[in-house]
Amino acid sequence: MLFLKLALIQLVRYGLLSGGAYFIIFRLAPEFFKKYQIQNTSISSKQIKHEIGYSLSTVLIFGMVFFLIMHPQLMPLTKLYDNISDYSTWWYFLSLPVIILIHDTYFYWMHWTLHNKFLYKLAHQTHHVSLNPTPFATYSFHPIEALFEAAWILPFVYLVPVHKHVLLVFSLISFLNNLKGHLGVDLMPLKIKQSFPYKWINTSTHHSHHHKYFNVNYGLYFLFWDKIMKTEKQY
Ligand SMILES: [Zn+2]
Ligand SMILES: [Zn+2]
Repeated sequence: MLFLKLALIQLVRYGLLSGGAYFIIFRLAPEFFKKYQIQNTSISSKQIKHEIGYSLSTVLIFGMVFFLIMHPQLMPLTKLYDNISDYSTWWYFLSLPVIILIHDTYFYWMHWTLHNKFLYKLAHQTHHVSLNPTPFATYSFHPIEALFEAAWILPFVYLVPVHKHVLLVFSLISFLNNLKGHLGVDLMPLKIKQSFPYKWINTSTHHSHHHKYFNVNYGLYFLFWDKIMKTEKQY
């Protein structure tokens, strides 16, 4: 029952946010968004069906990972906490940027590894079927990739104290950032994107270019690792 509830929460979030973004950009006002389009190749209904189909399996896998955190018998074993006073207040506020930085590093290297020839064919090709991704590609992962995407959070919550609200906010930020990479449009003016601190942020264009060019822009939130490893593709 708990597993189904958690999978349903994932499904509703995906449906509302990814479905909502797709509806607004591609159905409600395509003419308005045309000038913000990153790639101008057409998108087939086959691609959209592929994106939604694999996203549904990801919903189940992410639901299972959260089940392993939220299960009443497992939750006490984690370091998740309810009262801010259980740890210092500064940690309550600092933990969110720390989690995002750790996730960013984990994601870069996991993603870079998935581009190994063997692993790419086995687990990552599914995501790259979308050369020009739509918002429905947010969760379009092969089940093996979906496991890799979420697996790091398990040891993390068993080792590091995190307030439950912080985990919840992180989960939403992470989803929205992932959705941003698959919007198909980039609404941010170039002038702002080229200014500090935006030039350290992984934009919708960066991730769309990853789908198009494959071996560039592996990052998730930031460009630190892409700059260090010289895998960033400038606009
Ligand atoms: Zn992607
Ligand atoms: Zn990739």
